[in-house]
Amino acid sequence: LSDRLTSVFSSLRSKGRLSDADIDATCREIRIALLEADVALPVVRDFVSHVRERARGTEVSQALNPAQQVVKIVNDELVTILGGETRRLRFAKNPPTVIMLAGLQGAGKTTLAGKLALWLREQGHAPLLVAADLQRPNAVQQLQVVGERAGVAVHAPEPGNGVGDPVQVARGSVEQARRLQHDIVIIDTAGRLGIDQELMKQAADIRDAVQPDEVLFVVDAMIGQDAVTTAQAFMEGVGFDGVVLTKLDGDARGGAALSVRHITGRPIMFASTGEKLEDFDAFHPDRMASRILDMGDILTLIEQAQRTFDEQEAARMAGKLVSGDGFTLDDFLEQMMMVRKMGPIKNLLGMMPGMGQMRDQLNQVDERDLDRVAAIIRSMTPGERAEPKLINGSRRARIARGSGVTVTEVANLVVRFFEAQKMMRQMAGGMGIPGMPGGRK
Ligand code: GDP
Ligand code: MG
Repeated sequence: LSDRLTSVFSSLRSKGRLSDADIDATCREIRIALLEADVALPVVRDFVSHVRERARGTEVSQALNPAQQVVKIVNDELVTILGGETRRLRFAKNPPTVIMLAGLQGAGKTTLAGKLALWLREQGHAPLLVAADLQRPNAVQQLQVVGERAGVAVHAPEPGNGVGDPVQVARGSVEQARRLQHDIVIIDTAGRLGIDQELMKQAADIRDAVQPDEVLFVVDAMIGQDAVTTAQAFMEGVGFDGVVLTKLDGDARGGAALSVRHITGRPIMFASTGEKLEDFDAFHPDRMASRILDMGDILTLIEQAQRTFDEQEAARMAGKLVSGDGFTLDDFLEQMMMVRKMGPIKNLLGMMPGMGQMRDQLNQVDERDLDRVAAIIRSMTPGERAEPKLINGSRRARIARGSGVTVTEVANLVVRFFEAQKMMRQMAGGMGIPGMPGGRK
């Protein structure tokens, strides 16, 4: 969970199980948010149904309020759908390990080749970059520049032999690597602007010639929904073992990541986040999940969900206040927190005849005092909160120690609570409030 989300919710507290209506409403919002983030529809459907299932089975959590619980479920599901653990490169038993890059033109393959080479070199490997993109006039030169920057050797066709054959170059590079003791070969291939059969065939031919240990599909995270079609075409045409997401430094919202992973079943292994060679790292599903959750959209939806919960909670509380039944210290605390946060009960009470006394009582709650009150109540056992009569001298001392206040303050709080409770009983037995849940008709 991102820090930002945690802090948004840290001041809120409510309890109870998620109702089906809450879950449905929240799932609707998640669905919209994911679609807006360019996640493919079938993926959204699966995702939402998972979240729904888990939310239904979720036990009431002491530590999290319902909104936080939903966020946690969404986060967990995002991490799962994004692959759970980071998948590492598989190295060949007999070097060289052959890594082949495939993807559309402009996806970032050549840049990635350099990044990966540098990354591996820093881990003590000796990679060889291979220029098997002989389609674009400058492609070989571009790889040579990248190789130089990364400080790794580049294998390219002999100049002046006309247009070389990428399959030959790739095959030759593996022999070259063996000869020169390179333990890794990274093959940069040609891409086209769109999916096309010739391109697929060439990539498949290279694959057959070198039998790579890893085929990595390189995809631009900014292309959104198109990532799915492209990934499917490459899956059928060439096949791949892992995915590299590029241009994650842009405003890509993560939809491509979710969709590609889910639809192809292949792990996202690396992330590219800029034009410099250092802008590169292994892909971490949990970080991506946070990134997606950090989006304004989802944040908003969670705030909306929170508001719904709060309103329902306020209505429930109003019912309790009016009937005076089962009013506990937990409710007392909750009521004060709610008053501080939005004041609906105060407003509600103020609008009702005969409720002025109650409102005054609530108004007496000093803002700065609330944190101390909260600390005191939270230092009590659940039994003490439900039955404050239990709180004797030794319990008062324990609670005072636990919450860092004086014994007198604990005693005063309990007295205040009994007053509030008594007042509520009187009101419940008195006039009754028409139209209120629990009130007399
Ligand atoms: P290729 O056609 O697949 O080989 O793609 P290139 O490696 O030539 O990259 C195409 C363009 O995207 C170049 O201008 C790169 O500098 C740029 N590029 C590649 N990766 C990233 C990235 O992670 N972030 C950003 N902002 N630009 C990138
Ligand atoms: Mg290229």
